[in-house]
Amino acid sequence: MKRYLNLQDFATPVLGIGLLLGVVIPVLLWLVERLFQLVVLSLLMKISLTGGGIVLGVLFLLIILEQIQDRILTRQVLQNRTRIPLKNGSYECPYCGNLALKSIDATCPICQRDLKPETDKPQPY
Ligand SMILES: [Zn+2]
Repeated sequence: MKRYLNLQDFATPVLGIGLLLGVVIPVLLWLVERLFQLVVLSLLMKISLTGGGIVLGVLFLLIILEQIQDRILTRQVLQNRTRIPLKNGSYECPYCGNLALKSIDATCPICQRDLKPETDKPQPY
């Protein structure tokens, strides 16, 4: 079974962690540092900024990879459309949804698009 990159449930919590580390904590530390004149907090601020930047950078790369993967998968699905067998023995057109296709139809009578044979085996001459 192939595994696919899917950030649907993963991206939101990681984005929250990245924004917390990269924006919220550094701003709070900066405010505390300004109010109380504590120089020591600037090191913590830099560490938090670096961590948040790394988390957001990795998330950005994963989003780009997922977009590329989805584009490739969509292209494969669109290129490999085949007629869909139905329980009553007829077929459904993958382009227009015509439910009255026969197994011998080379083109759809409704949308006039060419239909691939059911199998990838070469057709006899
Ligand atoms: Zn059709």
